[in-house]
Amino acid sequence: MSETGIIVDIQRFSIHDGPGIRTTVFLKGCPLNCKWCHNPEAINYNIQLSFNREKCLDCFKCISVCPSSVHFERAGKHEVNFSECNLSGRCLTVCPNKALTLTGKVRTVDKIIELILRDKDYYNNSGGGVTISGGEPMTQFQFTKQILKACKENEIHTTLDTCGHAPSDRYLDIMPYVDLFLYDFKESDFQKHKEYTGVYNDLIQKNFNLLYDNGAKIILRCPIVPGFNDTEKHFHAISDIYRKFTKLHGIEIMPYHNIGLDKARKIGAEQNFISVDTTDKVKSREWISALTKYGIKNIKLG
Ligand code: SF4
Ligand code: SF4
Repeated sequence: MSETGIIVDIQRFSIHDGPGIRTTVFLKGCPLNCKWCHNPEAINYNIQLSFNREKCLDCFKCISVCPSSVHFERAGKHEVNFSECNLSGRCLTVCPNKALTLTGKVRTVDKIIELILRDKDYYNNSGGGVTISGGEPMTQFQFTKQILKACKENEIHTTLDTCGHAPSDRYLDIMPYVDLFLYDFKESDFQKHKEYTGVYNDLIQKNFNLLYDNGAKIILRCPIVPGFNDTEKHFHAISDIYRKFTKLHGIEIMPYHNIGLDKARKIGAEQNFISVDTTDKVKSREWISALTKYGIKNIKLG
């Protein structure tokens, strides 16, 4: 039996997570808790209950079957006490409109590779491959490594999308199986990094240097969030990296999208999230031209 892990989803024919047409595997679990996370359902390491308010008919059938009193009525509306859920799943079986689901599923490496191999022709024809993302894939280290290793055995291009916050020896261990790292650079200020993501950035910088010095192919990915890190200081820091690390494979900026807030509401985790408007194209172009003025060439929108 091959290694098992918990995934959120597998997205086939993805074009945003590395070159060409790819299959992206989103794993559960992340040591960070970014206020702007696009995939909040991937932060928690475990399978979770998800509640879609828009689909709920307020029929209250779930209340009577739940052994943990997770569901209750307030002012005629169905509410959920997520912290009490023990994942019995009974409420799912009586919900008439699929308002309740579970986020996360257990999969073996073999099962994932079987799915990945179905699209091998697309990868070959487009210069694509497989991306492991999350969450933070390094948190399910053996699982991630085995998927990447199997991809390489099948001559499939591999990309690892990482926040950089994992033990350094793991990055060296996994490097032979990764053709391209998508490496996050979220905030240059030490204190602000902690405030926005829950962790300091020293380990992340250390691992970036380690990978770079050992010849890893890296694209730096910079989420830019209005009112948080769209500052001159941070843009300067990005341009400093561009000048210093001349063998970087590219720099991408990822304009903020508020898709994460809605997903966070579904799992009862919206308290930690910012609520700002999705960045429009005009703003994104302003950021690109500001970074270009700092000397960065060929910035891409991620
Ligand atoms: S059973 Fe489903 S539709 Fe009915 S109240 Fe519960 S969540 Fe809403
Ligand atoms: S590192 Fe990525 S997955 Fe983890 S919380 Fe931040 S944005 Fe979300």
